[in-house]
Amino acid sequence: MIGIPARFRSAVASLVVFLSVVISISPVTAQSRVELMGEAIQGGVIIGLTEVGTKAVLDGEPLMVSDTGRFVFGFDRDHTSAAHLDLEYPDETRESLLIEVAVREYDVQRIEGVASRYVSPSAEQLERIRREGAIKRAARPRDTDADWFAENFIWPVKGTITGTFGLARFFNGEARRPHYGVDIAASTGTPIVAPAPGIVTLAEPDLYFEGGLIFIDHGQGLISVLMHLSSVDVEVGEQVVQGDIIGAVGATGRVTGAHLDWRMYWRSAHVDPALLAGEMPAPTPLERPQNGADAQ
Ligand SMILES: [Zn+2]
Repeated sequence: MIGIPARFRSAVASLVVFLSVVISISPVTAQSRVELMGEAIQGGVIIGLTEVGTKAVLDGEPLMVSDTGRFVFGFDRDHTSAAHLDLEYPDETRESLLIEVAVREYDVQRIEGVASRYVSPSAEQLERIRREGAIKRAARPRDTDADWFAENFIWPVKGTITGTFGLARFFNGEARRPHYGVDIAASTGTPIVAPAPGIVTLAEPDLYFEGGLIFIDHGQGLISVLMHLSSVDVEVGEQVVQGDIIGAVGATGRVTGAHLDWRMYWRSAHVDPALLAGEMPAPTPLERPQNGADAQ
């Protein structure tokens, strides 16, 4: 398993155990020619490595495979069925893998004190929300077979996690959409870095819900969304490498305090950034946590 980051090891082990069960009950080759890294779980992202020139299909939909043999797919917060991965290798040998997707339990979060204009927007605000929705839809994702996602992800900001992926949410007592991001509390002005390489596909200083907003395309439909920024320091089309400063933490948009909301999508699936970035490193004394949370 060359090149697999340490934090994937336990997950890979459990996946391999499962796949070996599949192999034992089906007439597939004993030696699989594909490696899958990641967690087969709701919100999980799986990175595959196979032979160059292989065709990969997930549940009937073609995947891209890079010129180094890498591909990616993910499972939505509410994904329920097992996934079928079909591979056709360059010598026309075929292999099919059945991947069970583990179900998660999500906590409930109740946030009070959300400004009423965010809970019940006016007609004028709804028009702005509609207009900005079109801008966001147009920005993602790009049709590229790049494999920038293959680099190990890092946290874009270090701080206390105040909201995890998948939380069921209530604002001022009213049920709202689940929380699809990871909220990281940090002071306004704290630099935000690119968690992995990619191309900037959206850079907006002030949207209604998100405030300052950046999209980074990591290739093959996997994108990062970084929200509530006080400063957006990149432009659309810019290529970033991991660790580049792209903006600063803020309290813009629909929030109750300064923090970064980092979300990720694979195609239309909401996936969990924490599964890629691993454990949050301890903050330095200069990175004092606040109590910021948002209402996204
Ligand atoms: Zn959030």
